Amino acid sequence: MANLIDGKAIASKIRGEITAEIAALKTKGITPGLAVVLVGEDAASKVYVSMKEKACQDVGIFSDEHKLSADTTEAELLDLIDKLNCDLRIHGILVQLPLPKQINTERVLEAISPHKDVDGFHPYNVGRLVIGKPVFQPCTPYGVMVMLKETGIDLNGKEVVVVGRSNIVGKPVALMCLAQHATVTICHSRTKDLAAKVGNADVVIAAVGVPEMIKGNWIKPGAVVIDVGVNRVGEKKLVGDVEFGPAAERASAITPVPGGVGPMTITMLLQNTVESARRTCR
Ligand code: NDP
Repeated sequence: MANLIDGKAIASKIRGEITAEIAALKTKGITPGLAVVLVGEDAASKVYVSMKEKACQDVGIFSDEHKLSADTTEAELLDLIDKLNCDLRIHGILVQLPLPKQINTERVLEAISPHKDVDGFHPYNVGRLVIGKPVFQPCTPYGVMVMLKETGIDLNGKEVVVVGRSNIVGKPVALMCLAQHATVTICHSRTKDLAAKVGNADVVIAAVGVPEMIKGNWIKPGAVVIDVGVNRVGEKKLVGDVEFGPAAERASAITPVPGGVGPMTITMLLQNTVESARRTCR
């Protein structure tokens, strides 16, 4: 039976380290600041934003909230981002996605200063990741890498199979594994014989968004399984992209859903904000 990779415990340990680092920064007169911008009334976005604000308060980050109405124009949002780019109290800017239809998401993300882009979505930061010199790394893939490191899993020379090629999870996590000297295969909806590809992996990273589509009997005995997927099934139940029970019988280590990758994402947002504030001391 696989060891459970406990994302909650790892996130809590990292948050403890972040809290200590913020206390040290404050003795030098620096309080890390994160601006969180929410446009409109999307229910899930409101929940994410309040979780981020609470996480900031818990570790001692100054959280600057901007809640804008659903009819905000692109020009108004760009104007706010300009102000936040110049505000010395702010080290990170997060614009909660999705944005209302009248606003061009790409233009907004590119307007954020790359030096305050704690979500790691600006093309400058994407490019830095591609050349192996990251500044800000996107939070979910960054969290996956920290989990692997904290669990003592070395990727050097390993076969890693990433299922999913989104800009926010699949592609960046593949690049991060490559930087750790893994041999990386990226699979997607047009991939032929996914079962065989997954069956070849020493480490499987699933970021698909389809409940339990990766079957337990595809997993190579002894492989590590990282399940990024969060899928609601019925009223209350959450499941991952991997068929957890049968996969856990074959894997050497596996992340649960919930309680695996999920708790790491906001933690890495806090980490990026603190790293940004720390750079102002240099
Ligand atoms: P996207 O929908 O943007 O991407 C899904 C990817 O999966 C695409 O590349 C798609 O291929 C691929 N795919 C879809 N169906 C199949 C299939 N049958 N076989 C192989 N590949 C397939 O999703 P995200 O990357 O944004 O998110 C993925 C999952 O991770 C979701 O469940 C999401 O909720 C979760 N998530 C969790 C986070 C966390 O904090 N824990 C944060 C972010 C996401 P193609 O490109 O060909 O369409």
